[in-house]
Amino acid sequence: MSTSRFPTVLDCLVIGGGPAGLVACVYLARYRRTVALVDAGESRAAWIPRTRNVLAFPDGVVGTALLARLREHAMRYGIEPWNARVRSLSRTADDLFEADLGGDLVRARTVILCTGARDVAPDIAGLEEGLRNGQVRYCPVCDGFETQHQRVAVLGREGHGLHEARFVAGFDNEVTWLSMGSRGSVASEDLRSLEDAGVRVANGLPVAIRCDAQRGVEVTMEDDQTLLFDVLYPALGQRHASGLATGLGARAADDGQLEVDAHQRTSVPGLWAAGDVAQGLNQINVAAGQAAIAATAVHNALPGRTR
Ligand SMILES: Cc1cc2nc3c(=O)[nH]c(=O)nc-3n(C[C@H](O)[C@H](O)[C@H](O)COP(=O)(O)OP(=O)(O)OC[C@H]3O[C@@H](n4cnc5c(N)ncnc54)[C@H](O)[C@@H]3O)c2cc1C
Repeated sequence: MSTSRFPTVLDCLVIGGGPAGLVACVYLARYRRTVALVDAGESRAAWIPRTRNVLAFPDGVVGTALLARLREHAMRYGIEPWNARVRSLSRTADDLFEADLGGDLVRARTVILCTGARDVAPDIAGLEEGLRNGQVRYCPVCDGFETQHQRVAVLGREGHGLHEARFVAGFDNEVTWLSMGSRGSVASEDLRSLEDAGVRVANGLPVAIRCDAQRGVEVTMEDDQTLLFDVLYPALGQRHASGLATGLGARAADDGQLEVDAHQRTSVPGLWAAGDVAQGLNQINVAAGQAAIAATAVHNALPGRTR
């Protein structure tokens, strides 16, 4: 195993260079801590056609442009993201963290994990194009507003799918819950609440879904009926990228979202988490806020500043 390109033990290693990781780096660098950022370059934010709820962008901003701005900000303080994936994270005998980048080893006193999450993707023909043009959306908190007066489908079994259908129906639109055969296991008061919210339920199994830039999202049901929508929200859940933390014993929910305290500390001493990988609302503003809290807590936990 070769040595790291970093000469010393870092005050903090930030893993993941989406909004959370980049903001954490800005804070730590401005606290004059030795910090490095390792990023595999697959931020969820890169999928955002244009976000309209991020602080200080009244006309919205394209996800990739936002990431470029955040990177530029971090680089002002000497942070050069290292494009690599951390393969494993372990503790050394002298109580440091050691990250293995598949050849390079990085040692740090503390770690902030900002590795994000992945949406469970449905099988949709033309999914990428659908995401780009807003026919497929993953986040009604982000863009439910944009669905006003449109025909909206929410795809997902009871639990996730049902809650999301009820949430989306608050935007003066026409919502159908594609319940994937799970309607029978829904409590009657929940069905009533859907009805009150004006949500239709299509209970059969969708056998094919296709995005067509002109026609919309076509959903073919098992009985050969075709349903047509302007927007489809898959609500199939997320997988939080917390394996590096749970491998060290960090507590997490079933979907991998890490438990954190009010300072973004995980249950593993010295290990913090911010952004989608940590408990909380999966939003850019939240990721930035959590990163600021985590970085400040890291700074306060370390002995006097080191450079
Ligand atoms: C289509 C879509 C639209 C959205 N719209 C909005 C919106 O309008 N407003 C809003 O607030 N939010 C929106 N979101 C959500 C937003 O993108 C996320 O909340 C945000 O990106 C979370 O930031 P993060 O830094 O926690 O994670 P991410 O941005 O996902 O970054 C995590 C980074 O960690 C890296 N990584 C993972 N594992 C490793 C590893 N082992 N080693 C090194 N690097 C690793 C990944 O490659 C990635 O670059 C949207 C998401 C999607 C998919």
